[in-house]
Amino acid sequence: MTRRSFAGLAVGAIAGLAGCKAREEESEGGESDVDAQTAHGNPDDETSTEPNAEESDDSKENAMPCTFDMHADTIDTMCMSDIEPYSTIYADECHTGTLADTDASVSASRMGKMGWAQCYAVWTPDDCPSVSHLEFYRRGAKFFRDQMKKYGDKFAYVKKGTDIRPAIKEGKVAAILTVENSCALEEGIEVLDEFEKDGVLVCGLTWNAENAVAGGVGTELGLTDLGREYISELERRQMIVDVSHLSDKGFWELEELVSRPYIATHSNARDVCAAARNLTDDQFKVIAERGGLVGLNMHTGFVCDDAHQYTFEELMKHVDHWLDLGGEDVIALGSDRDGSDLPAWIRDCSMQQGFYEQSVEYLGEELTRKLFFDNAADFFERYARA
Ligand SMILES: [Zn+2]
Repeated sequence: MTRRSFAGLAVGAIAGLAGCKAREEESEGGESDVDAQTAHGNPDDETSTEPNAEESDDSKENAMPCTFDMHADTIDTMCMSDIEPYSTIYADECHTGTLADTDASVSASRMGKMGWAQCYAVWTPDDCPSVSHLEFYRRGAKFFRDQMKKYGDKFAYVKKGTDIRPAIKEGKVAAILTVENSCALEEGIEVLDEFEKDGVLVCGLTWNAENAVAGGVGTELGLTDLGREYISELERRQMIVDVSHLSDKGFWELEELVSRPYIATHSNARDVCAAARNLTDDQFKVIAERGGLVGLNMHTGFVCDDAHQYTFEELMKHVDHWLDLGGEDVIALGSDRDGSDLPAWIRDCSMQQGFYEQSVEYLGEELTRKLFFDNAADFFERYARA
């Protein structure tokens, strides 16, 4: 089943053409072109580090598909196991290891031959009884900073959008720190200085409840005065506002207020799956009109109404819907890995390449590149501390 007219072509043939635009554009003048296909692979896999003398630089670039995942909760699952709610209700979801090699679903060791930009969220729960929201954030951010320092050979700690494509060109995972739920702002607008210093590029205003800046999706509350100040400050500092989890009321108040494009890192189409966490067509359209992004969420409960283990075709119904709304330059990915329930066929980051190949067969090469990488990379280059 294909959306466009690519039914007659073999997946491999198309995938071979489906290069990463980053590498096409960056191919001129690169002095130290590390073999990007293998540099963040498993260090124990010696075969993957063998350079292929017969392969030209151009063909390597063209052969490498790229992915840009705007949301995963891996950080929290690895460093919060001794504090609530991870020590209690999420105890089964905690993981060990490092961001370079972990049994969590997002691990640099299993990203294979894809060029990879990964947003790593520090999710702060609405309710964290044992520490303050700010202390919770600080724990996650410190873990991320330490990992970036320790595994600098695998990751580039990206602090502005224009660093993403060069990082991938160097064969590193472009790692972006993001905030999910800005409840720490309850301690004052100065908290934003700390986010900025940490290199946070994207700030989600809420999770599901009410916080100091806005009402989440589980409320009917809009923006607070502090929330309005926060959004204006984010825009002034060229940090990206994320509306995933925001209430509908908050969304429309924000839309009135903003002057820059904003994004929904991990939200689907409410017309396809009626979850309140998904976006209405009107919300998608105003995000599109501003030049923003919407990241396809892979959580079963946001893909289909009865939260079953959906198929590839069912997931792509959201993309089809957005394309029908004219969203070709808006679609992106926000897997929600390590923070939600994904079907087995797509749960682990090692499955991303197969997902990419299925997408090429279904959407064609150009749309797949936009969905998987180009739209998000272009946006971050233009707006994230550009
Ligand atoms: Zn979320």
